Amino acid sequence: MPISFDLSESSRISKDHYNKIAREQMRPISRKYDEAEHTLPTEWVDFWWNTGRKGPPPPSDPNAPSDGFVTVCIQAEEICWGDCGLYLRMPTPALGGSAVGAAGTPEQRKHFLAPFREGGHPIWGAMAITESGAGSDAAAIETTADFDDDTGEWVLNGHKIFCTAGEGSSTVDGGITVVWATVDKSAGRGGIKSFVVPANTPGMTLIGCEKKMGIRASDTVSLRFENCRIPSDHLLGSPEVKKYDPKKSGDKGFKGAMATFDASRPIVAAMAVGVGRASLDFLKQELESQGVEIRYDAPPREQTAIERDVIGMEADLQAARLLTWRAAWMMGKGKPNNLEASMAKAKAGLAVTRITQKSVELLGPLGYSRKLLVEKWMRDAKINDIFEGTQQINQLIVARRVLDYSSSMLR
Ligand SMILES: Cc1cc2nc3c(=O)[nH]c(=O)nc-3n(C[C@H](O)[C@H](O)[C@H](O)COP(=O)(O)OP(=O)(O)OC[C@H]3O[C@@H](n4cnc5c(N)ncnc54)[C@H](O)[C@@H]3O)c2cc1C
Repeated sequence: MPISFDLSESSRISKDHYNKIAREQMRPISRKYDEAEHTLPTEWVDFWWNTGRKGPPPPSDPNAPSDGFVTVCIQAEEICWGDCGLYLRMPTPALGGSAVGAAGTPEQRKHFLAPFREGGHPIWGAMAITESGAGSDAAAIETTADFDDDTGEWVLNGHKIFCTAGEGSSTVDGGITVVWATVDKSAGRGGIKSFVVPANTPGMTLIGCEKKMGIRASDTVSLRFENCRIPSDHLLGSPEVKKYDPKKSGDKGFKGAMATFDASRPIVAAMAVGVGRASLDFLKQELESQGVEIRYDAPPREQTAIERDVIGMEADLQAARLLTWRAAWMMGKGKPNNLEASMAKAKAGLAVTRITQKSVELLGPLGYSRKLLVEKWMRDAKINDIFEGTQQINQLIVARRVLDYSSSMLR
């Protein structure tokens, strides 16, 4: 069967559409909200809610095949080429939506995600897993969920940190925060479930917003849960506590929650590719304006140091994008993509970190100046190598999958 890497018409339309938004709506306010951390970018939020989320115009043939989930990654790349922090500040279900999609029932998906399509004002979704003692090792979470037989409610207690979009998701009506908690600590991973907590539920308190190195337009918050009561059907999937078996399909508990990452890692990888491309595009443009030509076809022994660097950056970026599209394509086809999602995330996280640092280096004072966005892209880049599984954790997952080792065999 011939292999084609051509994008479908709908993906090409989507790419152009979001690139225009990135250029015209995001770049002009990029520095403003980097400087004004913890300020709601109202012009961007309103634009997205009223116009941006309606999406690109349909392709000329509505029945033409589409690239499915790959298109979502193309959208993420283009918007993060504009600004990665503003991307994370968009009023969307975000990771909360991925979690509901991965672990929820069809009824729960319909119920919790409908307001994002139909609501009258901007709303946000978020996912709160991380705690002070549980980051990479998500199974170590201490937040508890106890079932109150008298009222038929779940009662959450615990403290979550570093929750992206958590300000909007916890304080603006209609928003949802998907919280990971254990219903039975003695059951280990098998006891971990995810719960949808609607915004402004009594017992959920926003403690503070994190001051950050990069993606400063994005709200990253700590949340406290003190006897926070939610209805029984806000537990995603089944409440049954089963022994955790990573190889068994159909278990919507911890496995369902972990499946969130199979969808979100390709998106974070695409975000990384967007930031890396922003930096590389600017570098090449600047080199060209200084009369430096990159001879892609020159033999390695004849290449200048700058040519070698730029060609290496380009190769890293393209490899990261291809891995991302493969993981996304598999996701869209319903194929298991755990290995491919981690490969894409690990490659893209490293690539964007290197590309943005090298751009600052090659541009010298221009790269370091706050007059331009290159230094900002370097600061924005690193988070893509940390959240949704760090570089090391994604490499660990790749090794486990390739060697067919369980998490207890390879830690
Ligand atoms: C800006 C920002 C936004 C975030 N948004 C969210 C969010 O929306 N929701 C959420 O739940 N969390 C979020 N996080 C948390 C993020 O997912 C965690 O920071 C990340 O998972 C790492 O966990 P940790 O910080 O506890 O580091 P640790 O787990 O303590 O790791 C520290 C270092 O040790 C390494 N390490 C750990 N275990 C191993 C191992 N077995 N082998 C090799 N190396 C290892 C790690 O790779 C890392 O380099 C966010 C974090 C940041 C900074």
